[in-house]
Amino acid sequence: MQYLPIFLNVRAQNCLIVGGGEVAYRKAVLLDKSGARLRVVAPDIDDLLETLVIAGAGELHRRPFAEADLDGVFLVVAATDDEDVNAAVSAAAKARGLPVNVVDKPSLCSFIVPSIVDRSPVVIAISSGGTSPVLTRKLKEKIEVLVPAAYGRLALLLGKYRGRVKSMITEGKRRTRFWEALLSGPLSEMVFAGKEEDGKRYIEQHLALADYLDVRGEVFLVGAGPGDPDLLTLKALRLMHEADVVLYDRLVSKEIMARVRPDAEKINVGKERSNHLVPQEEINDMLVRLAREGKRVLRLKGGDPFIFGRGGEEIDQLAEARIPFQVIPGITAASGCACYAGIPLTHREYSQSVRFVTGHLKNDTIDLDWPTLASENQTVVFYMGLVGLEVICAQLIAHGMAADMPIALVQQGTTANQKVLTGTLESMPALVAANEIQAPTIIIVGRVVKLRPLYSWFGG
Ligand code: SAH
Repeated sequence: MQYLPIFLNVRAQNCLIVGGGEVAYRKAVLLDKSGARLRVVAPDIDDLLETLVIAGAGELHRRPFAEADLDGVFLVVAATDDEDVNAAVSAAAKARGLPVNVVDKPSLCSFIVPSIVDRSPVVIAISSGGTSPVLTRKLKEKIEVLVPAAYGRLALLLGKYRGRVKSMITEGKRRTRFWEALLSGPLSEMVFAGKEEDGKRYIEQHLALADYLDVRGEVFLVGAGPGDPDLLTLKALRLMHEADVVLYDRLVSKEIMARVRPDAEKINVGKERSNHLVPQEEINDMLVRLAREGKRVLRLKGGDPFIFGRGGEEIDQLAEARIPFQVIPGITAASGCACYAGIPLTHREYSQSVRFVTGHLKNDTIDLDWPTLASENQTVVFYMGLVGLEVICAQLIAHGMAADMPIALVQQGTTANQKVLTGTLESMPALVAANEIQAPTIIIVGRVVKLRPLYSWFGG
């Protein structure tokens, strides 16, 4: 390690900034946030910086740097655009043994300022040792995504109990085990979900049974979107990193599974060894059993869990068994595929509403309210409609929809295998028969399909 990472307490300490421009201002903001008393020296000082210094009852000196500016100072930052001045400040500070930072000039620094992710009181500092600020920024972006905004609240809550826990559980090892058990349970999620009172109650319960270290299980029913991993929500990603065990099925792409915590147990409930689906009842039972074992169980589902996802049934049993659960929405296939195919689902002129229906074929028929579906000023999206396509087209025409009504079939939407076929109710069945189509596919019926040539942006 080239530098020692430390967090310095600068509260009420005089900190000198030489420079009066934007760079100096940015460093001043950071020092000010940390409670430092600012002393700013520069011939010209920007208004923003001036306001900040005055508000913090600091000192402003509109003149060039002088050695005596270092008197009574705890830490020094040189942020001028004059290399000679920066070098002089650095040399003078080092001569007095004061820590000094020269912005963007590691060779003149005795300390460098890291990039930070601020979830105060939790602060994450990142540094590439002065080698690549862009790399540091990229890493910062990743961490920003991973650490929920409410992390600070969680830390504050834990902080409130720190003293009490220390006096109640005097042995260090047991105390660590207590905190670990607490944090691997549902507490964090309670706080992130804004249920701080529940969180407090949960901590109190654990304190009352100080050596009760059982971890309570929980189920996350999470929508993984239609395929493109970039369409995962931040919350989905976070829970994917927290889960001990993941139940997924065929609609969840490999790329998405690659983002699940590497050491989590992964169970494919879309396929068994014999290639049969695990029956829904068995999945429901598995969720309950795994959660009862104290595991955090992620049930990852394609699209949105509450749209043709049988999410409700899975929750039924959890609710009955009083197992805590969360349901996280995902981008449903209809919106994902429509956007990536360049077909707006509604349009001021062509379509004032949109309907999501299942085109699942049962005994060669599809039991739907065809007269209302055949109405023309709307968009109808058929999930699970590939096998029933011919029936869908015939029924819509039979119930009065124009035979030349535009229709699109989107195969594996939002993925690298996306393929879109467009035609009319009349021509589509033959078109699909002539092409090799791979599930999953979605069917969009409505005048909005005509807009695709203009709005198409994704893929070939
Ligand atoms: N809960 C899911 C739907 C599950 S039903 C959601 O909200 O999207 C399964 C059907 O979804 C498939 O038969 C297909 O019609 C549709 N589907 C899911 N992902 C798709 C994709 N990437 N491309 C096209 N259709 C998709």
